[in-house]
Amino acid sequence: TLENFPSYPSEPYGGHTNETLVTDYHANATFVILARNNDLNGAVRSIREIEDRFNRRYRYPYVFLNEEPFTAEFKSRISVLTSSKVEFGQIPKEHWYQPDSIDEAKAKAGRDKMEEQNIIYGGSVSYRNMCRFNSGFFFKHPLMLKYRWYWRIEPDVHFHCDILYDPFVFMEEQKKVYSFTITMYEYQATIPTLWGHVMDFVKLHPEYIAKDNSLGFMSTDNGATYNLCHFWSNFEIADMEFWRGPAYTAFFEYLDKQGGFYYERWGDAPVHSIAAALFASRDQIQFFDDIGYEHNPYTHCPKGKGAWEKGKCSCDPLKSFDYDGYSCMSKWDRFIEQ
Ligand code: GDP
Ligand code: MN
Repeated sequence: TLENFPSYPSEPYGGHTNETLVTDYHANATFVILARNNDLNGAVRSIREIEDRFNRRYRYPYVFLNEEPFTAEFKSRISVLTSSKVEFGQIPKEHWYQPDSIDEAKAKAGRDKMEEQNIIYGGSVSYRNMCRFNSGFFFKHPLMLKYRWYWRIEPDVHFHCDILYDPFVFMEEQKKVYSFTITMYEYQATIPTLWGHVMDFVKLHPEYIAKDNSLGFMSTDNGATYNLCHFWSNFEIADMEFWRGPAYTAFFEYLDKQGGFYYERWGDAPVHSIAAALFASRDQIQFFDDIGYEHNPYTHCPKGKGAWEKGKCSCDPLKSFDYDGYSCMSKWDRFIEQ
């Protein structure tokens, strides 16, 4: 047995951890993970990785959210992974389910049409609930109200590099509001009328448009058409004061009233991205090159000089999605350099 193995490092040699706890200033921040009970194994893998690569040294708390109660097994298998505080919350019904104001016959027709077109999640109501929740409600959950900053994590994502500084504190000090690692084109068929409604909102509320905004990243004809570029929101580090503020509150309410979360299949990614592009200035949007991140099927691998080595990254730097034809990264780079 192990005990009899002569060189097995028993106390005082064993029992070490390689944690060097960072006790510097911390932001008022949390991780947030939306998950179902059957997402447990994927959630365990994601938390294990973010702990290894970052949070075992920073100990930011976690908030898990679900429209159903989390099982005791879910709670114990997640809590065992970290020394941080972990809270598990149930989502209020009004924040999740299709509102009565939605014409179900019209919504059903929209789902059937999208399913026929083989659009991913085209026929799913629960996916639409999720997108609407992530667009307008996660930051209103009682467990989230005490925090200003959040880092969104999903089950089964990968963090490929050591994160050797505090991205929350970086965001706060640099006065950023939104950040991303991957940017790409949205499926037009999921948002046929979204841009028109966005432009209607802009006409109604010109006072909310930031002076040095990023409209130019998404439109080359001053808003007449949308090029479908958006930030992939399964990774987000952002400021909830932005979502809780007057511009986004009015924007979400306006979009929600149009019903497109159900009649179409508006994603939280284009909704968040368009809001960040319009209501924040371009220097408030941060691209985190040094955070190696993977959400199937795409990976962002650091390209900045020395970043891959410094982060001891496990991703292939030649296969970063940044160089893919479906990525909007080159458009962002050109936009930022203007
Ligand atoms: P995709 O990334 O667009 O393919 O969508 P996902 O299936 O990954 O869902 C996005 C996030 O929402 C993930 O964190 C999922 O665990 C979570 N999610 C999706 N649908 C539901 C649902 O019906 N209930 C709950 N509680 N979480 C969900
Ligand atoms: Mn996902």
